[in-house]
Amino acid sequence: MHPDNISAELKAVSAPTPRSISVMGSTGSIGTNTIDLIERNPDLFRVEALTANKNVTLLAKQAVALKAKLAVVADPGCFAALKDALAGTGIEAAAGPEGLLEAAERPSDLVMAAIVGFAGLAPTLAAIRRGATLLLANKEALVCAGELMMAAVQQSKARILPVDSEHNAIFQVFDFERKSGIEHITLTASGGPFRLFSKEQMEHVTREEALAHPNWVMGEKISVDSASMMNKGLELIEAAYLFGLPEKQIKVLIHPQSIIHSMVSYVDGSVLAQLGSPDMRTPIAYTLAWPERIKTPVAPLDLARIGQLTFEEPDPERFPALDLARVALKTHKTVVFNAANEIAVEAFLSEKINFASIARFVAGAMDRFSGLEKASLEEIIALDEEVRCWCNRSLKN
Ligand code: NAD
Ligand code: MG
Repeated sequence: MHPDNISAELKAVSAPTPRSISVMGSTGSIGTNTIDLIERNPDLFRVEALTANKNVTLLAKQAVALKAKLAVVADPGCFAALKDALAGTGIEAAAGPEGLLEAAERPSDLVMAAIVGFAGLAPTLAAIRRGATLLLANKEALVCAGELMMAAVQQSKARILPVDSEHNAIFQVFDFERKSGIEHITLTASGGPFRLFSKEQMEHVTREEALAHPNWVMGEKISVDSASMMNKGLELIEAAYLFGLPEKQIKVLIHPQSIIHSMVSYVDGSVLAQLGSPDMRTPIAYTLAWPERIKTPVAPLDLARIGQLTFEEPDPERFPALDLARVALKTHKTVVFNAANEIAVEAFLSEKINFASIARFVAGAMDRFSGLEKASLEEIIALDEEVRCWCNRSLKN
């Protein structure tokens, strides 16, 4: 064959075919990092749908820039503003829970699940049920409906690629074919802004102090969760479902530099870890390109400059969240754990309760409610609602 023809043939084989993607929660911290990577790789992705809660201006800007087919606001009160912002662009607008479902259910190869909290559960499950490849950031969905979601994955042949940096790290070094060789996994935790605070000091910390994470820039809810270590509790439950491990095989280790993102210990003494600069664009890029890799603007890891990596055991006295999560997992109270925490975080952010009360509040709800096994989506939604009502009533008293 003539060399010119060979190179033409090679070009045809290696020309990237764009994959279609819908980004749920495109205006948030994970959402905007995802959009940033999509914009840097215009040949690789074609955007189907984008969703936001209320931020019409940014949503419309993203939809126009990426030529999305559909833009959805969760808050129906923002629908008129979205329609106005998209007038003449040919981009469809929708709103409310049905709009979110429509975005998740439309055919697309990939769905980035980056809505925060329980609000993301129904669309996340819908994407799984239609067999999409789900890039999962919305950990609260898996915490509340782990059994249901993993069963739906089996049924629909969907795939979950974890975006959460710890789970993404484990996914990269976990031997799924030879699970019996795995002794345990270790989730690393930065320890958050109050790592060295006393119990007494944590009674008086402010909203701003809780939101100032030392290593990561994130949305408000996960920032407070990181400060209380509820985030690591949610991640422990997330790991149990994603990797099919009992809680006793999931350890947590404080690593303030956030360079080792998590690790897997094998029975022969080998420990495999994934390392990198603390920037969510690495795990997001891994899920976007999987099984390939794409370049990112993430700062290269310079271990000589960092000098030291340090480790500590978590302190259950000052950070009771981890033990609460273990109990929640063992007693099937993960819906209660999550709902009470969401309400407590909102109450702390609006300065109705102090920081140390978050864990006490979650413990109170877990005492009050019983667990839920093999539940349907409807049963999970009903329990979530019941816990929220109880929490809101107790906040008023
Ligand atoms: P964020 O608050 O920055 O963004 C949340 C997104 O969800 C926004 O687009 C918002 O408009 C949308 N949203 C909020 N409430 C909604 C509702 N009721 N209905 C529909 N949409 C709604 O949050 P984030 O930090 O990007 O986190 C998103 C998810 O990713 C969370 O579950 C979080 O735990 C997880 N996560 C985040 C990070 C991070 O670095 N930010 C890391 C790991 C995991
Ligand atoms: Mg994480």
